[in-house]
Amino acid sequence: MNKYIIIFLCLLLACTLDADLSIQLKGESKTNILKEATFNGVKYISLDDFNKLFKAVSKEDREDSRLYLHVYDEQFIFLEGSPYYNYKNESFSMQYPILRKAAKHYLPSLFVSEHLRTHFPKQVEPKGKLLQIAKPRDNSVMTIVIDPGHGGKDPGAVGKKLKGQEKEINLAVALKLKQLLEKELGVTALLTRNDDRFVSLQDRTRFANERKADLFVSIHTNASKATASKGLETYYLSTAQTSDARAVEALENDVVERFEGGSAAKSKYDDLDFILSDLSQTEHLESSNSLAISIQQNLIAGTKGYDRGVKQANFYVLRGAFMPSVLIEMGFISNPDEERLLLNSEYQERLARTIFEGLKRFKHRYDRIRNT
Ligand SMILES: [Zn+2]
Repeated sequence: MNKYIIIFLCLLLACTLDADLSIQLKGESKTNILKEATFNGVKYISLDDFNKLFKAVSKEDREDSRLYLHVYDEQFIFLEGSPYYNYKNESFSMQYPILRKAAKHYLPSLFVSEHLRTHFPKQVEPKGKLLQIAKPRDNSVMTIVIDPGHGGKDPGAVGKKLKGQEKEINLAVALKLKQLLEKELGVTALLTRNDDRFVSLQDRTRFANERKADLFVSIHTNASKATASKGLETYYLSTAQTSDARAVEALENDVVERFEGGSAAKSKYDDLDFILSDLSQTEHLESSNSLAISIQQNLIAGTKGYDRGVKQANFYVLRGAFMPSVLIEMGFISNPDEERLLLNSEYQERLARTIFEGLKRFKHRYDRIRNT
């Protein structure tokens, strides 16, 4: 056969075969192949393959047909069947929609070869026919923000018998917890306040977001008109709630009313912020729930206190956090017995220890899931 015909046939074959994307991690010589599949004449790559290589995390919201994708610490929101996606509150079109086939998702190849380059010019660069990408970071829980509730002009709940102030108990436990996390778990633990000062609810979550915290833990003590009310409970954010949860929510959200400029401030939190933060928390709902369960179980086992369970409520302070977040009520300062315990330094130590154990257990499980 004429050699030109052979070359021609080879070229033809090469064109009809899926080309695949060749990707190299910076600093490594090995080439990784992202296999392409063709659907409706468009090239796609499987989301599972993509996640493995980019150490990306994706989460599907079946109800809303949304797909959340975390790449290089940033979030993309895709809508099934739509070529548009949302990135940093802007819409971009890939021309072709993401696909869901047999419970697997597929991204248009174009998203990887073209769009990622534009969004991450430093991390994703073409090099000849290769795409060179920065090594994705370790997805383990590295930074935990601890939020001692109240402070400064806002004392939080105040005990009836010993006049103990919630803000002081919260801070004492938070400081002890920080020590344990840094010494025994080797993570960075940051406090939204290290002393007796007022910090607005918005600034607390803004701090956590800016520091790119992996977890947000808000620490409180409870109060009730009924002095017999007792026990410990852990909350995570949700709009669904019981009437009991609503009462605690009102108590904690009261800060906005009383110390942050009243109803004007309240509506500021209520409108767009809420929609955005609700979105960001939807993604973390499952993780927040299992974090809450892990903490609550350890709290009860370690303190032998009355178990009020894991609950969902709509706290302002959790709304703005873009990470798994919980709020702990460590007991009732309005109950004389619990107030005495809460003010006791050894008991505070035990509370910190049990919250620590809950965080540790959660981290071990979470790290495994996020890094495989
Ligand atoms: Zn509180």
